[in-house]
Amino acid sequence: MPERDDRPDRKNALSIEDMGPATRAIHLGYDPASHQGALTPPVYMTSTFAFETAEEGADTVAGRRAGYVYGRAKNPTQTLLEQRIASLEGGEAGLATASGMGAISATMWTLLKAGETMVVDHAIYGSAFAFFMEGLTRFGVTVRLVDMTDLAAVEAAVGATRPRLLYFESPSNPGVRILDIASLAAIAHGSGALAVVDNTFASPVLQQPIGLGADLVIHSATKYLGGHGDLLAGVVVGRADQVNAIRGFGLRWTTGATIAPHTAFLLLRGLKTLHLRVRQHCASALTVARFLEGSAKVARVAYPMLDSFAGAGLARRQMAAGGGIVSLEMAGGKAAALRLIDALRMIHCAVSLGDAETLVQHPATMTHASYTDEQRATAGITDALVRFSVGLEEVDDILADIAQALDAV
Ligand code: PLP
Repeated sequence: MPERDDRPDRKNALSIEDMGPATRAIHLGYDPASHQGALTPPVYMTSTFAFETAEEGADTVAGRRAGYVYGRAKNPTQTLLEQRIASLEGGEAGLATASGMGAISATMWTLLKAGETMVVDHAIYGSAFAFFMEGLTRFGVTVRLVDMTDLAAVEAAVGATRPRLLYFESPSNPGVRILDIASLAAIAHGSGALAVVDNTFASPVLQQPIGLGADLVIHSATKYLGGHGDLLAGVVVGRADQVNAIRGFGLRWTTGATIAPHTAFLLLRGLKTLHLRVRQHCASALTVARFLEGSAKVARVAYPMLDSFAGAGLARRQMAAGGGIVSLEMAGGKAAALRLIDALRMIHCAVSLGDAETLVQHPATMTHASYTDEQRATAGITDALVRFSVGLEEVDDILADIAQALDAV
């Protein structure tokens, strides 16, 4: 954050950078002593920034002088947020955007050109899927879908297409499939491609893809980073030159998907409790997953830390805990899935995830409705699938609501 007086920066003298992640999420990059003692960072509610002289303006615009020019590219409240998220993800630099889709689109407009190929996991969030399949293909980008749990299939696709980048989520939306980030990054790099990972479901509390070899990490910060269901935002973290390119081209010139200063402030507030919240989401989700496994009305439960789950071994190596999302397939198919959702009383039916409220939704007709029936079938997103985002209520109350809803099916 820019400082207008010259008092010593006491917090940085204590080297916050070397402290643990929960501490960095609260203190990094800000000292109240430099801001009239304000414990909470100020919100810079401004769209533009005044220069002392025309020369200073020209130098700032040209990048010869550090500073702010216009709010579409950056704002000091946003800068503090970007510093903290980059630190939590273990990347050099961060960029905050107006939504997760803003982060994904700004990144792709920057990295890809007509004639290039991206290799994409076949089961990702529906709007990202639609952007790639319906959007980027219109501009001459080829999208090759692969089941990225199958590393041999990925190697074959990369060898055949020489892509500019690989794109995937782990855990994936909606089935929490676990993808081997280190191996996929190695395959990408072996062919000169970038590995771009959507880390929304895990959050940096549970896994840091850059440490596993990924080049760029993307989040829908609307979810766990914000944590309260009251904002939309996104982030990209990676090498400084790449993130700067995405800011300059993808954000400033192409999408204009800029985060509002007040949203950046709300996200800074959300980050302060991220580690506590994620710990509780994980504990409750594991309890819910085990409970669902015991119901005869449930055919299959997907949760990264369940012994019965295909990705459990990899999840244990790659993640600190399983996250807050539990997916299941109802034995009675689509009718039973919809009946379960409608019978829930405390738990609301809503898309999105990572909020304090437990949410439930039907991926085939909601978050993944942008897939064709055939694409959904290939991706394993059946009509019987129900996705829970386990919230922060008392876990016994969550279980009681699910139990009475299962009884009603
Ligand atoms: N990535 C994942 C895994 C998501 O689940 C979502 C939204 O649900 C997005 C990206 C898009 O983020 P946003 O809704 O903030 O644009």
